[in-house]
Amino acid sequence: MPEHASVSGNRKPVILVVDDDQLVRVMLRDTLTAAGFEVSSAADSVSALNNFTSVQPDLVLLDLIMPGKDGCETCRDIRALPRGRYTPVLMITGQDGPDSFHRAFEAGATDFIAKPLNPELLVYRVRYMLRASQDVNRLAESQARLQMLKAAVDSLPIGITFSDVNGLIVYSNPAEAQIHGYGVDELIGKEARKFSTSDRSRPIAVDQLKECGVWRRESVNVRKNGEEFAAQLTSISVRDSEARYLGIITTCEDISHRKIAEEKIHQLAYYDVVTGLPNRGMFLEKLHKTLAQAQRDQDKVNLIFLDLDNFKDVNDTQGHDVGDKMLRSVAERLSACMRDTDVLARLGGDEFVVVCPSVTTQESVAAVVQRIMAIFTEPFEIEGRHLYTSASIGISVYPDDSLDATTLFRCADTAMYQAKNEGRAQFRFFSAELNQKIVQRFALENSLRKGVEKQEFFLHYQPLWDLKTAKMVSVEVLLRWQSSDYGLMLPSAFISLLEDSGLINSIGEWVLRNACIQMREWTMEEHRELKMAVNISGKQLKHPRFLEMLTTIIQETGVDPTNLELEFTESIVMDNVENTVEIFRKLKEMGIQLSIDDFGTGYSSLNYLKQFPVDRIKIDKSFVDDINHNESDAAIITAIVSMAQSLNLRVVAEGVENSDQLHSLTQLGCDEVQGFYLAMPMHAKALAENLGKKHGKQIEKLPVTEWFDNRKV
Ligand code: C2E
Ligand code: CA
Ligand code: CA
Repeated sequence: MPEHASVSGNRKPVILVVDDDQLVRVMLRDTLTAAGFEVSSAADSVSALNNFTSVQPDLVLLDLIMPGKDGCETCRDIRALPRGRYTPVLMITGQDGPDSFHRAFEAGATDFIAKPLNPELLVYRVRYMLRASQDVNRLAESQARLQMLKAAVDSLPIGITFSDVNGLIVYSNPAEAQIHGYGVDELIGKEARKFSTSDRSRPIAVDQLKECGVWRRESVNVRKNGEEFAAQLTSISVRDSEARYLGIITTCEDISHRKIAEEKIHQLAYYDVVTGLPNRGMFLEKLHKTLAQAQRDQDKVNLIFLDLDNFKDVNDTQGHDVGDKMLRSVAERLSACMRDTDVLARLGGDEFVVVCPSVTTQESVAAVVQRIMAIFTEPFEIEGRHLYTSASIGISVYPDDSLDATTLFRCADTAMYQAKNEGRAQFRFFSAELNQKIVQRFALENSLRKGVEKQEFFLHYQPLWDLKTAKMVSVEVLLRWQSSDYGLMLPSAFISLLEDSGLINSIGEWVLRNACIQMREWTMEEHRELKMAVNISGKQLKHPRFLEMLTTIIQETGVDPTNLELEFTESIVMDNVENTVEIFRKLKEMGIQLSIDDFGTGYSSLNYLKQFPVDRIKIDKSFVDDINHNESDAAIITAIVSMAQSLNLRVVAEGVENSDQLHSLTQLGCDEVQGFYLAMPMHAKALAENLGKKHGKQIEKLPVTEWFDNRKV
C-alpha cells in the first residue's frame, strides 16, 4: 500500500515540477502521483511562475539548468512572490559540484537533490521537506498567535502575572504594574505573593493551589508607596502536557471602590443614620447570635428596652433638628455606660434597646438599669438650651421569660409599657402577671371600641350645693359605660384606656354635647343659674381643635357658656403651662367657668395656680375622708381655704359621705360640697325629679340632714 503524505486534512500536497526535459517531467509526475501527491508541471521559468501563482504548491521541484532563466533565477523570482517566501524549493542539480550548490543556496533554495534521480529517495526527500516546512509554518502561526495573545493580555484592564515554579514573576501586564504602582520591568523577578498582605502569611494555600487548580480570594494588596487596597485575586496553576507544574497565573482586580460602596450599603442597611448605632435589623441579628451563644454556654441574656418619656414634646416644641441632636446625645451617653459585650441599638423613634449577656442576677441587671437611668439626671445641652428627658425601661430575661428572640422582645416591650403607665422614668421586669394584665387590657380596649360603636355609654349627674345658701349650684356630669362584656363600668376602669387609644376625643366630645343639650333643657325656663360641670381630659385639652370643637357645640346646642363649667386636674394644667394659660384665657373670654379638680394630689401649689384664670378648686376626696380623724388633713383644708380666699377662688369639697364631714367642711369655710351623703350620681330623669318637686315643694335646697336645717347661718 503506497504511503500517502497528506499535509493537512484531506487535501493532497501539491508539488510544482519545473524541468525543461519532458521525460524528466513525466517521470517525476508518475512517481509523485503514485506517492499520493498532486502534481503541476512547468517547462520553463515563465510558466513555473504562472503555475505557482495559480496552484499555490506546497513544494517546488526545480531544475537548476534550464534554457532561459535557470533554476537559480526562477527560485529568486518565486521567493519574491507573496506566498513564495516560505514554500520549500528542492533544487535538482547535475553533477556540477559545490559551486552549483552554493548558487542554489544563495538563490534561496531549501535543499537540493542531484541527478540522476532515484525516485524512491526523491519521494522521501519531498516528504521530509514538507514535514519540516509544516513545522516551520506552525511555529510561525503559533508565534503570531502568541503575539496576538500578548497584545490582548497587555491591553486588559485587570492585572495579570505569571510566576514560575519558584513563585517569581516572569511576566506582568501593564495593568498589574500600574495597579501596584510599579513599572512592568520592576516586577519581573519579584516574589508574587509579597504583594498581597494576606498571601504572605499562607504559603500553604499556594501548595493547595498546586493541587486543586483554582484559588479565588479577596486580599489586601500593597502598592509601591505602601498604600493598601482591596483586591480580588484569582490564581490558576499551570501544567504542561505531562502534568508537570510550571507556575501560577494570577489575575488581580483593584476592588477598593466596590468595597467602599459595599461598606456604605452595609452602613445604610445595618446602622441608624441619626445616631450611628446599630439599627433594628442589626440588633435582631445580634440578638439571635447572642441567644445562640447563651444557649451553648447556659448563660443568661437581658434585654433592656428603653423609651424616652417626653421626646415627642421635644420634637414638637423644639423642632426635629433639636430632636435629632437630643437622640445623638442620648446615644452617646448610653454607649458610654455599656460594656464591650453589650449591644446597644436604636430601633427608631425614641426607642433604644440593649442586649446584655452574662448579667445573671436581678440585682446586677437593676444596677445596669440604674446606670442607664442616671444618664438622664443631667440636662442635655442642645443649641444653648438645657433640655431634660427621662426613660421608661422594660427588661426581659433569657431563658426565664422566653427562649425565642421575638417573644423576648415583646416581653421587654410589655414591661416598658408597664413602666410608662406607672408614671414614667421607671423600670419594670417582665412578669407573667404583668403579661396577664396586658392581655386583659387589650381585651378591655377591644370591648371599649365595640362599646363606642354600639353606643354603650350614658351619663350620670351629681349635684353640688352651696354651703352658705344651701342651694344646689351645679351638676357634675359623670361618664358611665354599660358594657355588654363587663356590665356597668365606672370611669376609673376605662378613662385611661380611652386616653391611650385616642378614643377620649370622640367620647369627650359626645359627653360635652349631651351635657350641653341636658343643661339647655334644665336652664331654659327655670334654674337659670344652674351650672353644668364637665370633666376634660388632658388629651382633649391638648387637641389642637379643642376650642373649635367647644365653640361649635355651644353654638349648635344654644347653651349659655356662663352655665358651663370645665374641670381639669392639676397635672393636666401643669403639663404645658404656657399653652394651658392661653387656652384658659380664651375659655374665660367665652364666659366659661374653670375648676381645678382633685386638688391636693398633684403640685398643690396655689401660688403656681395664681397664673391660671380659674374660678374654683375642688379639694380631693382623700382629704375629706379623714377630716375628722387626721388633724393634718383638716389643717391642709384650712390652709387651702384661706389661700383660695385670698386668691378669690371658691373651694369645693368632694366625696362628702357623712354628716360629720359636712359639719367640719362648713366650719372650715368651704364654699361648696359634693358627695354620696348629699346625692349619688344619677340619671338625668331622677335629677330632674329632684330639681322639680319633692314632698310637694320645690327643692333646690340641700335635701339632707336635720343638722343642715338647724344650722346657724
Ligand atoms: P372626679 O372628677 O373627681 O369625679 C368625682 C368622682 O367621685 C365620681 O366618680 C363620683 O362618682 C365620685 N364621688 C362623688 N361623691 C362621692 C362620695 O361621696 N364617695 C365616693 N367614694 N365617691 C364619690 P366616677 O364617676 O367614678 O368618676 C371618676 C373620675 O373619672 C372622675 O373623677 C373624673 O376624673 C373621671 N370622669 C368621669 N366622667 C368623665 C368624663 O366624662 N370625662 C373625663 N375626662 N373624665 C371623667
Ligand atoms: Ca370632676
Ligand atoms: Ca375630683
